[in-house]
Amino acid sequence: MPYAPVTPPILAELRELCGSDQVLIDDEARARYGEDETEDLSYPPEVILRPGNVGEVAGILKLAQRERIPVTPRGGGTGLSGGALPVHGGILLSVERMNRILEIDRLNAVAVVEPGVVCETLQDCVEEAGLYYPPDPASRGSSQIGGNIAECAAGPHAVKYGSTKDYVLGLEAVLPGGEIIRTGGKIRKDVTGYNLTQLLVGSEGTLAVVTQATLRLLPLPRSRLTLLAPFASLEQATACVSEIFQAGVVPSACEFMERDAVAAAEAHIGVSFPHREAAAHLLIEVDGMEDGSVAREAEIVGKVCLARGALDVLLAEAPAKQAELWRLRRSVGEAVKKISVYKEEDTVVPRAALAPLVAGVKAICARHGIASICYGHAGDGNVHVNILKGEMDEARWRDHLSDAIREIFELTVSLGGRISGEHGIGLTQKPYLSLALSDTEMRLLRDLKRVFDPHHILNPGKILD
Ligand SMILES: Cc1cc2nc3c(=O)[nH]c(=O)nc-3n(C[C@H](O)[C@H](O)[C@H](O)COP(=O)(O)OP(=O)(O)OC[C@H]3O[C@@H](n4cnc5c(N)ncnc54)[C@H](O)[C@@H]3O)c2cc1C
Repeated sequence: MPYAPVTPPILAELRELCGSDQVLIDDEARARYGEDETEDLSYPPEVILRPGNVGEVAGILKLAQRERIPVTPRGGGTGLSGGALPVHGGILLSVERMNRILEIDRLNAVAVVEPGVVCETLQDCVEEAGLYYPPDPASRGSSQIGGNIAECAAGPHAVKYGSTKDYVLGLEAVLPGGEIIRTGGKIRKDVTGYNLTQLLVGSEGTLAVVTQATLRLLPLPRSRLTLLAPFASLEQATACVSEIFQAGVVPSACEFMERDAVAAAEAHIGVSFPHREAAAHLLIEVDGMEDGSVAREAEIVGKVCLARGALDVLLAEAPAKQAELWRLRRSVGEAVKKISVYKEEDTVVPRAALAPLVAGVKAICARHGIASICYGHAGDGNVHVNILKGEMDEARWRDHLSDAIREIFELTVSLGGRISGEHGIGLTQKPYLSLALSDTEMRLLRDLKRVFDPHHILNPGKILD
């Protein structure tokens, strides 16, 4: 679809709308906002706009639709599927200045926030009020609530508490063309027509720009224990995961890291962990309101791990020790990406299919002569597969990469899974979407996009062509 350029008269109109300071066209800004955390991709926009309120967002989208200029919404720029990359140039709409926590309503246990609030800032603020906002992507220190909603972000605690979708009660959003909609609210139930709130969650900035969110909060768990269980084989570690749940415990986190993932994180943050000989580790957390019940659950988890072949079970009671283990886990993503040129896949299967998924991924990569490092949210069956180029020559890497990815996704789907658990389709996973969806489902997605965005100005080139 041909798009119009951002001409000097349009720039003048945008300056009028947002204020001159919030309209950036210099090369440094265009380079910075032309990247996110997806590989080494770069697509500089023509102009960056930093609106301060919903009215300005509406004005931008109205102008963009009138002029047929593409608009790419952006939060913290931590996305891993290229969702915030302005692949068609045009306007990059950053919500970073819309970063106010408008209300923590303790009576209804909800927070009302603007989209540019950093996830961790919200969590800290909510905790001060004795409440809990569980969605916690490893990027929570820099990703923003709008981006978390657009990607339906999750994190280690999703296994017990669910992902972002389980916390979004209502949204204010601006449609391409500038109309403002308000969905849901501070209510826990709502069957008032189609569920537009949940349609927008995970829509990767392709249907509307989120300008405000009403989020569900929980009571803050008062007690927490963390366990680290090393295993001599990948199979033992992955097979143990379902056993923990079968023993009647729903851990608040159940993470899996293979040896190379732990080694990369150790090198990255300069901390050494016990049992370096282990092929894989499970990092498990149990939480609750009362120390006694949490300790009992930890004991059950420890026994299951040992019965399933764990070399040891280390219990971290002190908050400082727990924080150190979590720092290691949270740094794995960044550490692995530093090793070499890479591609990251975000496979998700039913929990009980975790062991065949990991074994199959390893076999596929070995067959193609490609190195891989797996880690992720084992309790959710969500494995991040990092495929590394290492010393492989460029031609061989190019020849084998897409076949290997396709085979990994075919395996994932054959195990009852999907090709993204939390990172989204965006730009980079688009070629593989039809492996997971039928022709009818693909048509429904296209039709939905057309209803929201008939002129294809909002984040074009993402999810669908
Ligand atoms: C080191 C690292 C660790 C990570 N760990 C996790 C993890 O544990 N779990 C997880 O789920 N993800 C993880 N991610 C991926 C990423 O952080 C998430 O996808 C996150 O939700 C992106 O938020 P963001 O604010 O950075 O959004 P961006 O990257 O800026 O944008 C992401 C998408 O959201 C859209 N968007 C942004 N704001 C809005 C808005 N206001 N309205 C509409 N659309 C909008 C953009 O157009 C884009 O499509 C990780 C990333 C890194 C780099």
